[in-house]
Amino acid sequence: RVVVGTKVDMNHVNWVTAYNMLTGIRFTVSRTNAKMDRKLTDADFDAKNKFSFDITGNELTPSAKYDFKFKDYAPWVFRHLRAKFMLDPADYLMSLTSKYILSELGSPGKSGSFFYFSRDYKYIIKTIHHAEHKLFRKILREYYAHIERYPNTLISQFYGLHRVKIPYGRKIHFVVMNNLFPPHRDIHQTFDLKGSTIGREFKEELLKENPRATLKDLNWLRRNYHFEFGPTKKSLFIEQMKRDVALLQRLKIMDYSLLVGIHDLSRGNEENLRDRTLQVFQPGSDGNVDPQINMLIRTPSKLENQRQAKQLRQIIRKEKPVPMDKSTSKMPDELLEERKHFIFYSDDGGFRATHEDGSPGEEIYYLGIIDCLTHYGFVKRAENFWKGLSNNKSQISPIPPEPYGDRFVNFISGVTKTKEEQEREPQSSEHL
Ligand code: ATP
Ligand code: CA
Ligand code: CA
Repeated sequence: RVVVGTKVDMNHVNWVTAYNMLTGIRFTVSRTNAKMDRKLTDADFDAKNKFSFDITGNELTPSAKYDFKFKDYAPWVFRHLRAKFMLDPADYLMSLTSKYILSELGSPGKSGSFFYFSRDYKYIIKTIHHAEHKLFRKILREYYAHIERYPNTLISQFYGLHRVKIPYGRKIHFVVMNNLFPPHRDIHQTFDLKGSTIGREFKEELLKENPRATLKDLNWLRRNYHFEFGPTKKSLFIEQMKRDVALLQRLKIMDYSLLVGIHDLSRGNEENLRDRTLQVFQPGSDGNVDPQINMLIRTPSKLENQRQAKQLRQIIRKEKPVPMDKSTSKMPDELLEERKHFIFYSDDGGFRATHEDGSPGEEIYYLGIIDCLTHYGFVKRAENFWKGLSNNKSQISPIPPEPYGDRFVNFISGVTKTKEEQEREPQSSEHL
């Protein structure tokens, strides 16, 4: 189950990094939000602001340890994006408060990226490679235009792009995005579908040890699964998927997948949600865990610097520890509030299965196109060459963006057909 992570507390190796990420986000987001709203300009898409945080610790946490540099990219663009995605600005900051450090999913993919959940599991922080970062900045205008035109996109909702660097440390790029899976519902099965079959398998024999593992295309086909959308929802879904894939093809992006979480209403929540949600780090009631924040932020003008340092201290001081049960019981409603505006996230945070006659089905699907910052040019050409030597050319996963997208659309459209439609035009089963 994706929701369970390792808590990132002070003993965790990545605590400082996580702490810096959150502090940087909160500082830069509140700095932008404090200003009067205005229209975006072309320059906003290329904007970047750099900050130096000099933090002095208390006797528990020696000084210098928390010094870091933070870069905020296109703050106004992301402010507008968050508004388009109907996020409440105060709520966003609350979710990302460093008083409750995140839980870490570690590195589930092969890419080495790290994933962190916000304390309420609404948001995911994903560290990204420099190449992905560069690509995202390059396509930001197109991404923004796409969101503007199709607010119901299935592509990941991005809320921020930042970089953190600790002294003598690496530069770490990361994005903040939506967690597709809801905090209040068990996800009984997860699939990561690309439309490719070569190597796209989670070994079934390992399912016993890890019953909630993310399954892949071959596992899906073997189970002969199909989406039950009913005619109306089906055409909405297919249409949107095609528009999204067309954008990714145009931007020469590939390697993305459709992430599918399935909640079975007849099974409900078998696991104790509350226990799981409480796994996040909670500071002692005396608040002692937080280092005594004493910040100096280096910005171009001394005056602005002083004002910002004061602002930040106020933000941090205001964040009194919130009793956990209060915040968890509030969570589901809040989630529904902002997601109900979006077709594919409006049935309890997801898209409810529907029978052909329009009556509601037994499952809720949580769907989205994820991992969409890989440019064909970066790594895949070499991979294509090597894999192409030994395998069927159209089935290997690193194929160029055009055929990649076509294959993706074909596969997903195929598994959206009803049983009757499938019987009429049976699916190829040569790879099973
Ligand atoms: P690779 O490049 O090897 O595929 P990656 O590090 O780029 O891996 P992703 O493909 O983005 O990672 O995601 C890996 C897994 O993390 C997904 O299969 C899914 O289980 C989970 N995940 C990623 N994004 C989300 C999201 N927005 N909501 C919920 N879960 C997610
Ligand atoms: Ca992936
Ligand atoms: Ca990836």
